[in-house]
Amino acid sequence: MPSRPEPLSAPKLGEPYLLTPGPLTTAYEVKEAMLRDWGSWDADFRAMTKSVRDQIVALAGDTKGEFTCVPMQGSGSFSVEAMLGTFVPKDGKVLVLANGAYGLRAAETMRYLGRAHTLIDKGDYMPPRGDEVAAALDADPAITHVIAIHCETSSGILNPVAEISEAVYSRGRKLLIDSMSAFGALPLDVNEIRYEAMVSSANKCIEGVPGFGFVVARKAELEAAKGNSHSLALDLHAQWAYMEKTGQWRYTPPTHVVAAFLEALRLHAAEGGVAARGARYARNRDVMVEGMRGLGFETLLKDRWLSPIIVTFFCPADPKFDFSDFYERMKAKGFIIYPGKLTVVESFRIGCIGRMDEHVMRKVVQAAKEALAEMGVTSAAPPEAALSERAKLAA
Ligand SMILES: *Cc1c(COP(=O)(O)O)cnc(C)c1O
Repeated sequence: MPSRPEPLSAPKLGEPYLLTPGPLTTAYEVKEAMLRDWGSWDADFRAMTKSVRDQIVALAGDTKGEFTCVPMQGSGSFSVEAMLGTFVPKDGKVLVLANGAYGLRAAETMRYLGRAHTLIDKGDYMPPRGDEVAAALDADPAITHVIAIHCETSSGILNPVAEISEAVYSRGRKLLIDSMSAFGALPLDVNEIRYEAMVSSANKCIEGVPGFGFVVARKAELEAAKGNSHSLALDLHAQWAYMEKTGQWRYTPPTHVVAAFLEALRLHAAEGGVAARGARYARNRDVMVEGMRGLGFETLLKDRWLSPIIVTFFCPADPKFDFSDFYERMKAKGFIIYPGKLTVVESFRIGCIGRMDEHVMRKVVQAAKEALAEMGVTSAAPPEAALSERAKLAA
């Protein structure tokens, strides 16, 4: 993979890099795009909204005009809830595939919606596989929809959405995908992976700032979803119908965030689109993981399951290691890292996404090395329990 000759420009404001899966480090130009006020009704802003929608549909690979993009105010979870509430009929039933916090949040959302659902919970990180999805669908004919998480950001695992999609459609059911932390860096082409709708947000791999999410949906499915929604504000069909008719958002849009997102989309295209964005993140991961392993750290996941989005590391067994101390030392060196979410052993996470490249990742590794030395930690090796946990995961 060719490496970038010149480093990406560092954040100009002296703030630390966010090695977190959104909000993340954004380009200066993206922040700068917010220095102007826009009238939500005005033709200029309507054109901006249209441009965002068209570009997102193009990123999803739709060339036949079968899909549309509906942006929705709020953080990503608002759009997940909007998608579930809009596409699942009141008498539908959802199979939720969970292997971490975001899968469980989808199940919790179904509980709030008061709609039938059932859960395959694979624990902290084991991937839901096509054959078990097929078996669950065979066992329960009432299931109408399946929701899968593309990259489960709580462990960083890249779930096998292609085989899940095949299992779902071979059983005549419908797939919804939470591709929040993957879309824009990992392909989710409508011509290659079948689904009815997928959801992502402004502040993940497109590298915008937080403030809205968006759903890419099959138009016919959206048309048929009229009246399903439990919520006025989160009704995607209503948002879509109003946007098609007027070019406007139904309620106050996050105008500055949309302006920043357009700039982020421009940078995404200039970089070379999904393939180039994904390649930069993969390189970030490879350089960072190799460096951290060189210090003695071990990843939760085997290489096959490591996403280029975020990587979970086990905390060292050395009693001198303390995560909050490590965190503060990393922050003082310019890097905000992320606590882990595993229930069995202690862990932390380092994100690979955002406006940063391999040069930054080398500095991250150097900072970790210095932080360990300052704490008097001589080995970053994890406890035995962590390694036996990992042994459960297929190669
Ligand atoms: C970030 C993320 C979400 C949404 O989280 P918000 O905090 O509401 O933006 C949902 N699913 C996944 C997989 C995510 O990574």
